Amino acid sequence: MKLLPPGTFTDYLRLLQDKRKCERFSLKLFLKVWGQFFSDRLGIRPRSQHATCGICKKHKMILKRLANTRARAGQMKEYVRHLKRTYADRVQYWQARSTSRLFFLPCGRRSFCMITDGMDRSKFKLPRSRIMTTKEFDSFSRPSLDMSAMITHGHSCVIAISGPRVGKGSSWVVDLFANALHRLADQHDIRSAEVILQSDNCSKETKNNCMMHFMGMITSLKKVYRTEMRYLQTAHTHEDVDQYFSAIATHIQASPELHTPADFVRSLTNFGRDHPDVRPYEPNTIVYEVGGTRDWKSFLAIGCRNSHLKGIAGPGAPHVFAFDRAEDLPGE
Ligand SMILES: [Zn+2]
Repeated sequence: MKLLPPGTFTDYLRLLQDKRKCERFSLKLFLKVWGQFFSDRLGIRPRSQHATCGICKKHKMILKRLANTRARAGQMKEYVRHLKRTYADRVQYWQARSTSRLFFLPCGRRSFCMITDGMDRSKFKLPRSRIMTTKEFDSFSRPSLDMSAMITHGHSCVIAISGPRVGKGSSWVVDLFANALHRLADQHDIRSAEVILQSDNCSKETKNNCMMHFMGMITSLKKVYRTEMRYLQTAHTHEDVDQYFSAIATHIQASPELHTPADFVRSLTNFGRDHPDVRPYEPNTIVYEVGGTRDWKSFLAIGCRNSHLKGIAGPGAPHVFAFDRAEDLPGE
């Protein structure tokens, strides 16, 4: 079953009405057709704890209050344009994901698409035990583990788990990316391959100079042919990696006794092995515990001190960054 982004039936009726301007549909008819033909294959995702998109919210609130037909049409045009932009970003990701599952591109090169994100910490409270639900432990404050995943489409899922003392900044993500890349290089010659890293817009983790420098470094050192970093529009970042997290959360909830980080590692390794249907295209699930990360941030800041990029985060910042060697570009 496919799930549409959170919203109401009225919101979706408005979008349909905008597409078919010459016809009028009542909400009653819309609900009847939906119930008859789509209820078993299409749903609306319930609201989550993730922040909703400010732009969508603004458009919806204005549309709700506008009585003037022309003004409504104008506002709806702007709203649809925003939705089309977010959809176009997703289509680019889906294309890269499909290509990553193929053996070779028509040009003879390989393309690997990766997506990364961090999971909600509340699912990883330690220790996890039935006894923690008793009154005696009511006020017991438990530390949480952090968990991030890197899915290399068509190849593997790499999951890193760490305690609260390990810093979770750009160095953490670079370390995870380097780990996944290293494992990929064990099986494939990535020197002639393009690597696309997809993530949300979080400037603390991926949209920062540390990650850019690392991408530039591996491209210039010919570790890979070229790299690209792609970001989905803020608050429209719900993707397959979140569905993967949802399956992991269900598995953790069904595992009442997990007392140490090693137990979580073992449990998630078993989860990957016993549920090949969750990520059918990624046969390998690698789970490891991180005791500390390399200080990539300082290392790359010193090594690339003459190439600090500004304006890469925040509203209006680019959503794609490509790293190519000048000698490989046509006309150079
Ligand atoms: Zn939006």
